[in-house]
Amino acid sequence: MHVVIIGSGIGGLCLAQGLRSAGVAVTVCERDAAVDDRYQGYRIGLNQHGLQALADCLPPRLYELVESTCGDQIGTRPVTDEQLRQTSDLGWVAGGTVADRRVLRHVLLTGLDADLRFGKQFTRYEELPDGTVRAEFADGTSTVADVLVGADGIGSAVRRQLLPHAVITDTGVRCLLGRTELTDRFARLVPGAGKVAIGPNATLMLGKMAFRRRPDQLAAQLPATADYLRWVLMVPSGQPTIDAATLTADWHPELRAVIAEQTTSSLISIRSAEPVPAWRPGPVTLLGDAIHTMSPSGGSGGNTALRDANLLRRKLIDSGRAGIGDYEAHMREYGFAAVAASLAALPTFVPQLT
Ligand SMILES: Cc1cc2nc3c(=O)[nH]c(=O)nc-3n(C[C@H](O)[C@H](O)[C@H](O)COP(=O)(O)OP(=O)(O)OC[C@H]3O[C@@H](n4cnc5c(N)ncnc54)[C@H](O)[C@@H]3O)c2cc1C
Repeated sequence: MHVVIIGSGIGGLCLAQGLRSAGVAVTVCERDAAVDDRYQGYRIGLNQHGLQALADCLPPRLYELVESTCGDQIGTRPVTDEQLRQTSDLGWVAGGTVADRRVLRHVLLTGLDADLRFGKQFTRYEELPDGTVRAEFADGTSTVADVLVGADGIGSAVRRQLLPHAVITDTGVRCLLGRTELTDRFARLVPGAGKVAIGPNATLMLGKMAFRRRPDQLAAQLPATADYLRWVLMVPSGQPTIDAATLTADWHPELRAVIAEQTTSSLISIRSAEPVPAWRPGPVTLLGDAIHTMSPSGGSGGNTALRDANLLRRKLIDSGRAGIGDYEAHMREYGFAAVAASLAALPTFVPQLT
C-alpha cells in the first residue's frame, strides 16, 4: 500500500510517522518550499488524545524528544479587565502540557526526508479504473497512490473536490497572534497557567511557553527558540486588520508592554466547519483542519488532528483501504463534537460578541 498525504502540518506528519514505523510506503506533499517558509510558531496545548497519538505514532526516541521540548502548564487562570482587576477565574490547571508548534513540526519531520516533497501544491485528484488515485500538482507533476489523505488544513483543496458542499463559517472574530520574549517581568504577569484580560473592544489571552529543555540543545535539527509569552488579541470586528496599539491605548501598561515588545505577530480569522453528513468512503479521505476546522477557544484543533492521524493509521494498518469508512464514521462523531464544544467556548473569551 502506498499512501500519499497532502500537507505537512502536525496531523499529516504524525500519520506519516505512524505509517512509516509500520512499514507502509508514504509520501508527504507540502506546498511550502521549505519547513520554515511561513511563521508557524505559536503554542498549542496537548491533551491526552494528542499525547497518546504522538506516543503511538512516533518511534520512542522521537516521542522522548517531544516530551523534552514541551512545557508545563500549571496554576490558576485569572480573568481580569483591561486594567488587570480580577473579575473571575477559569480554574486551576494541573499537569497541562504545551508545545511550540514549530518545534513539534521539526520533531515530526525527523527521519522523513526521503518521504517528503516540498514545493508540491496539490491541485486535484482523479480516481483511476484500477482503484488507485492520481494526485496532481501545480508544477505539472503527479503521483499515483492507493490512498490519498487530505491533511491540507482549513483551505483544503482535497476537501473542496471530495466534499464540495462542506461549509466553513466565519465567526467574525479576528486574532492577532503574537509572541514576546519571556522576561522576568512578563513571567510575573502570568505566574500561573495563563491570564485572560477582557476589555471593552478586545480580549488579550496570555500563556507561557517555557521549554523543559532548550530544543536546539537537545537535537541539532531543532530550531533555536527561547522561552516566550504567547498572546492572542481577539477582536470581534470582522475587520481585515487589527490596530493593536490603538485598541489597547488605555489598557494597563503591563498589557500594552507585552504587545509593544513582541518579536513577531500574525493575523488570523476564526472559522468553524459545519458538520458534514456521511459520504461514501473511497480511496480519498481527510484529517484535521481539512475536515473539522474549529475555533482555537477549545484548545482541541491540533489534538483532534493528531487523534485522526492515530485512528487512520490504525485502520489502514489493520484493514487497508477497507478501514477508511470506519475511520470516517468515528472521526466525524468526535471531530464535529469538538467543533461544537470549541464554538460554545468562544463567548467565554470574546464576550464582546454577544
Ligand atoms: C491561535 C491558535 C491557537 C491554537 N491552540 C491550539 C491548542 O492549544 N490546542 C490544539 O489542539 N489546537 C490549537 N490550535 C489549532 C491547531 O493549530 C490546528 O488545528 C492544527 O495545526 C491543524 O493541523 P493540521 O495538520 O490539520 O493542519 P495544518 O497545520 O493547517 O497543516 C496543513 C498543511 O497543509 C499544507 N497545504 C495546504 N494546502 C496545500 C496544498 N494545496 N498542497 C499541499 N500542501 C498544502 C499547508 O501548507 C500546511 O503545512 C490553535 C490554533 C490557533 C490559530
